[in-house]
Amino acid sequence: MSQLSSVQLAFDQQHIWHPYSSMINPPATYPVVAASGVHLTLDDGSQLIDGMASWWSVIHGYNHPVLNQAAHEQIDRMSHVMFGGLTHPPAIELCQRLVTMTPAPLDKVFLADSGSVAVEVALKMAIQYWHARDLPQKHKFLTLRNGYHGDTFGAMAVCDPVTGMHQIFSGVLPQHYFAPAPQIGFDQPWDQSDIAPLQTLLEQHHSEIAALILEPVVQGAGGMRFYSPEYLKAAHALCREYNVLLIADEIATGFGRSGKLFACEHAGICPDILCVGKALTGGYMTLAATLTTTAIAETISAGGAGCFMHGPTFMGNPLACAVAGASLKLLDEQDWQSQVTRIESGLRQGLAPARELKGVKEVRVLGAIGVVELEEPADNRVLQPMLVNAGIWVRPFGKLVYVMPPYVMPDETLAKLTSAMVHVLQNYLHK
Ligand SMILES: *Cc1c(COP(=O)(O)O)cnc(C)c1O
Repeated sequence: MSQLSSVQLAFDQQHIWHPYSSMINPPATYPVVAASGVHLTLDDGSQLIDGMASWWSVIHGYNHPVLNQAAHEQIDRMSHVMFGGLTHPPAIELCQRLVTMTPAPLDKVFLADSGSVAVEVALKMAIQYWHARDLPQKHKFLTLRNGYHGDTFGAMAVCDPVTGMHQIFSGVLPQHYFAPAPQIGFDQPWDQSDIAPLQTLLEQHHSEIAALILEPVVQGAGGMRFYSPEYLKAAHALCREYNVLLIADEIATGFGRSGKLFACEHAGICPDILCVGKALTGGYMTLAATLTTTAIAETISAGGAGCFMHGPTFMGNPLACAVAGASLKLLDEQDWQSQVTRIESGLRQGLAPARELKGVKEVRVLGAIGVVELEEPADNRVLQPMLVNAGIWVRPFGKLVYVMPPYVMPDETLAKLTSAMVHVLQNYLHK
């Protein structure tokens, strides 16, 4: 196991951007030299229990023999070939799986390079759809506060203008419509008043709105909030009523994370357009997809342009598709439902003691997602090393200290993860 030299680490600090990082006095980054199962190995040989699944993606654990084999076999055949005018078995097999797994009406697949690109593609599909129906004035979007949909320009414009991390760009982004975030929690009794502001916006502006885009049931990076499936059901009905498409961004929630294969299933609805990403390749490499219905795909294709106007260089990358296909097969074969249910009860039990800590606002769990919300934003320069020293990889974000472990995490490891989290928070909050 190679130990990184201090020169290499200094290079990292001085020359390499990390996500949302500063180039002036950046906080320490931890050098990972290997990862296996649910553990990360740092270059000093220490092992951390991974609570993050590398941002929702590593659902089967690291260095998985089946996914490794799929990657090896594909790399020995061909890593990449252009998708314009050519096709290949990994893309076909993956898309067959996606069409089968997702709700029946979603049967046309666009393969995208990342989650943000999948969102751009979804937005463009909605605009092209209305354009083809001779309603080009329907080119605005409606979305929810506290939402997060990615970092590219189109996606940024539908992120929460305050919590969405993109406030600086507000002057250059197209202006869309924002409804207040749903207030009624996942398990709370439904009240129609929660959706009234969304209804008002639709009433007033439906003639210019192409689609409502939202994260179904779980708002991720914009606050880790879980809202009532009744809200989603009502929003779906309102979209039908006002002739507005519904885009479900399941990039974080897709493939079982919320306790259903797709979070839309909590509400029993099917969106017009669905974005998936993150866990699609089991966290091996970047790949995402945007699915839509035959009716929408054919309307777009019958429009003036005669095609859908998007086609990235690395579209349908065979290596990524091969691993994604193997990952979805694994998801199918393993009992993900009982794994996620098991993780859910482990998180509920393990994180409950955090409720008693002064400085903790709320503890909430849904599926394999556990959130401890603090009263005040955490000082990561203090809290992050405390978590690492406790042997766990948890990356707090603002007031949120949260975990979404790989589905394969054994009960004992999960108990260690949650008890270390609670213990560290106790020390951090009471110092
Ligand atoms: C992560 C995320 C995205 C963006 O995906 P990238 O792969 O980071 O571009 C979009 N929407 C949601 C809900 C996400 O969680």
